Amino acid sequence: MNATRPDSEAARLTDWQRGLREQFPIITAHPDLVYFDSAATAQKPRSVLEAVQSYLTTSNANAGRGTYPWANRTTQLVERTRHRVKEFLGDPDPQRSTVHFTGGTTEGLRAVARDWLTSFLREGDEILVPFADHQANLDPWLEAQRLLADQGTDVRIRALPYQAVSGDYDHRELERVVGLRTRFVAATHLHHVYGGDMNVHRIRAAVGPDVPICLDAAQSVGHLPLSVAPSALDVDFVVFSGHKALALPGTGVLWARNARGPIFEPGGWQGTPNTVGIASLEAALDWLDAAGVERIARWTVALATRLTDRLRGSASYEILGCQASLAAGSGQPLQQRRHGIVSFRHRDIPSDDLGFILFSEGFMVRADNLCQAGADEKRDGSVRVSLHVYNTEDEVERLLAVLTSLD
Ligand code: PMP
Repeated sequence: MNATRPDSEAARLTDWQRGLREQFPIITAHPDLVYFDSAATAQKPRSVLEAVQSYLTTSNANAGRGTYPWANRTTQLVERTRHRVKEFLGDPDPQRSTVHFTGGTTEGLRAVARDWLTSFLREGDEILVPFADHQANLDPWLEAQRLLADQGTDVRIRALPYQAVSGDYDHRELERVVGLRTRFVAATHLHHVYGGDMNVHRIRAAVGPDVPICLDAAQSVGHLPLSVAPSALDVDFVVFSGHKALALPGTGVLWARNARGPIFEPGGWQGTPNTVGIASLEAALDWLDAAGVERIARWTVALATRLTDRLRGSASYEILGCQASLAAGSGQPLQQRRHGIVSFRHRDIPSDDLGFILFSEGFMVRADNLCQAGADEKRDGSVRVSLHVYNTEDEVERLLAVLTSLD
């Protein structure tokens, strides 16, 4: 019995994935193309497209402004989705936390910086921010420092340290960088180039219980389970983009725990929310919960492992980020886990050329500096294959056939 179990489990997972893949019309309509750019934006399942159509044809109105049925339904949609986000994030104290809808991660991080951090920090405080994650998770903190300096308040920015090979934060070095004046940390959940889980729970351990942490979850929502229960991720802000989580572009989430420092209040007049985007987000979160994020993670980790293990065997390719600690249960708890993002370079072929070669074979990948802070397009460019639940082993094998033919 036992001997057959792994196989039947693998078969079940394959059947499950096939059923899900069929729900993505753009994927099934283009069997000759392979979409490997889900870290840039994800494709949408039919239920999300239907939710958009249904909202626009039954209830479209402004939110929080009218008293007629369409307006009431729209207001209810926005409130319901706020609660849905809290539930999706495993929020243990939804009475206290707030969900603010934004245009995306970039806007959400900027809102934390401008509307919250600038009123939280005092003269001489230090903040720790990532200088090698996405540019969107660096600029807002530099801007907050400038805004405060304009008001005569000097705060110091310190760089989160990284480990050279894995791209994980250097948690040992972090303990040295954290000081009595450390008042805030901005970090990333899943790195958009290295594909690794950045082990943010270890940042909490290093800074202690009182320092607010803002989490850029752009790459993790829908890809790996994310719980803001303090025993899981004791962070104060979670910021993400709807479009990477199967919803429409122009929709983003800023969740604030409101337990450390002032309550988050968006600054200035808040105009009409993106109600169509919010309708898509509600459907996307329902879809992800029904599919099971844990299983999505297992699927994409397996595909990324297959790709990484084979490329690692070739002298022509250099893989960025964590090299070996790929699958769950690697038995090395301090090592980093890679999820569904694999970035690499060919020894002789420039990455932008490799991107063109791959597209000529039907593979849509990203090939540039990937918006990484401080990365130069020519010097640091790479090819990024980013996976989602609609990708298959066959697609990865077809990609590997092309890549190994260039060895
Ligand atoms: N942070 C990370 C880690 C990202 O990968 C991205 C998008 N590539 C962003 C922030 C910015 O997201 P958006 O463009 O949706 O604002």
